Amino acid sequence: GDLAEEVDTIIIGSGPGGYVAAIRAAQLGQSVTIVEKGNLGGVCLNVGCIPSKALIEAGHSYEKAQGNDELGIKAENVSVDFSKVQEWKSGVVQKLTGGVQSLLKGNKVNVVQGEAYLSDKDTVRVSSENNSGQSYKFKNCIIATGSQPIELPNFKYSDRVIDSSGALALEDIPEKLVVIGGGYIGIELAGAYANFGTEVTVLEGEKRILGGFEKQMSQLVQRRLKNKGVTFYTQAMASGVEEKDDGVTVTADVKGEEQKIDADYVLVSVGRKPNTEELGLEQIGVEMDDKGLIQTDKEARTSVSNIFAIGDITDGPPLAHKASYEGKIAAEVISGEASAIDYLGIPLVAFSEPELAAVGYTEDEAKEAGFEAKTSKFPFQANGRALSLNDTDGFMKLVTRKDDGLVIGAQIAGPSASDMIAEVGLAIEAGMTAEDVAMTIHAHPTLGEITMEAAEVALGTPIHSM
Ligand code: FAD
Repeated sequence: GDLAEEVDTIIIGSGPGGYVAAIRAAQLGQSVTIVEKGNLGGVCLNVGCIPSKALIEAGHSYEKAQGNDELGIKAENVSVDFSKVQEWKSGVVQKLTGGVQSLLKGNKVNVVQGEAYLSDKDTVRVSSENNSGQSYKFKNCIIATGSQPIELPNFKYSDRVIDSSGALALEDIPEKLVVIGGGYIGIELAGAYANFGTEVTVLEGEKRILGGFEKQMSQLVQRRLKNKGVTFYTQAMASGVEEKDDGVTVTADVKGEEQKIDADYVLVSVGRKPNTEELGLEQIGVEMDDKGLIQTDKEARTSVSNIFAIGDITDGPPLAHKASYEGKIAAEVISGEASAIDYLGIPLVAFSEPELAAVGYTEDEAKEAGFEAKTSKFPFQANGRALSLNDTDGFMKLVTRKDDGLVIGAQIAGPSASDMIAEVGLAIEAGMTAEDVAMTIHAHPTLGEITMEAAEVALGTPIHSM
């Protein structure tokens, strides 16, 4: 056998969970080793959050450049060089992954390239092309191996049947694209390509898209996408695909009727599964649920006390900031600090049009949790900045506890919802009331004023609504 190297903390996976945990553990005095089999930055930086937002932005720029009748802006001969878009997108990714590398180095984190396997409760074995097995004996381990797209049995991934990574890396703008799955990943990519002029068809199995958000919110997105020419089939089960040299024909059962749709590509975005199968978890007794998600407590600890798990491989929203948050908690717990996960303040965001964001409780969830809540709504149509941006679709709903006005949640649909949700997250974290938010002076005219106005609605004294 080989000689095992001794380390304090070993982290498996360098996505937003793993690399953040590594930096925080190093800051707190641990000697940290991080193992990555692919690229630093994980899904989020390489094939997730960042490249998708870059593509969405490029789509917006193109769409806006085509002029606006209402504003009297005429444009001619607007075109896209999509290879340039891809080049720019890759540049953004490279800047960020390079940044992660420097940060890890600057914090003296030892980065090991290779695939990790837990051979024992205190040993990780790493194999790579040029090293067929180095073992690391650890005091604590944080597993942060993330997730991968689910494959549908009748839709084997190929050149034409693509996952989100494939959809982000297309060389040309497709003329036609079928998207199977109306979750946030499918809807974000559908919107981006619709802006580039692609004829998009979305197949959703449920009655509506974006099921993680309230109906009122997802309806706004569906309407806006329809206006861009996107076709929606809900209660639609994609059943098969026929591949040709230059495209696909997708067959779907839509409310009992068979539909055939031709396209250049079919994007399958029906969810992701945790990367927990090939880590040796069963044999060392790390408990998982029937979906393969690792079970953890409020300290991110698994059923094996010196092994922690964070991010997409644990229950909860599979989002980058959730992974990073849990990573910080795990690193702090390992370093002996009192720290625990509180899920209430984790925002859910879809970078759709309009953007959707939610944090904390909805009124119904509050009721289920056993307390009376009140929702106070304010529309973007009454917000001066939204009007001057010509972007007034949507609203802010602030949820407060009835007896004392404590802010416990919000749902926002509209421009910059992704940024604005942070203010409500802060209010929740800080234990603020509607009065505190209403008393906070917001610059005028800004989209953020909508939060102050919703708080005033909660107090019964709104200035700009009746
Ligand atoms: P990951 O980022 O998946 O990283 C896990 C890492 O572990 C990978 O690098 C992998 O190579 C490595 N690994 C796995 N197994 C091993 C092993 N055995 N040994 C060594 N290394 C291993 N989230 C948001 O919050 N906002 C967004 O806007 C957003 N947009 C998205 C868009 C798309 C198209 C996709 C696909 C996802 C998006 N997400 C977004 C989700 C986000 O990317 C994930 O929630 C996040 O990356 C999870 O982080 P993680 O650290 O748990 O794992």
